[in-house]
Amino acid sequence: MSVQVVEAQAPILNAGHRCDACASSRAYVAVILKWSPTLRNGGELLFCAHCFRKHEQALQLFVAQVIDERYTLTKHVQDDGHFE
Ligand SMILES: [Zn+2]
Repeated sequence: MSVQVVEAQAPILNAGHRCDACASSRAYVAVILKWSPTLRNGGELLFCAHCFRKHEQALQLFVAQVIDERYTLTKHVQDDGHFE
């Protein structure tokens, strides 16, 4: 079973989205889970680039879709998500 990885044309994550793992960094990856027995937020987790790398292997079992916006780390993106 393969995991669908989506690189959005326009970023959907902005500075208001924070990493669910460290709670301090801006989120650049949204993970939609196949099932989530303990989550109350609809089975979506947000990760900063660092935490996603750290948990990526373990997440493979549960992930339905990954929205990876780490590519925006190399571009200047304003807080509202629009490219400058
Ligand atoms: Zn983090």
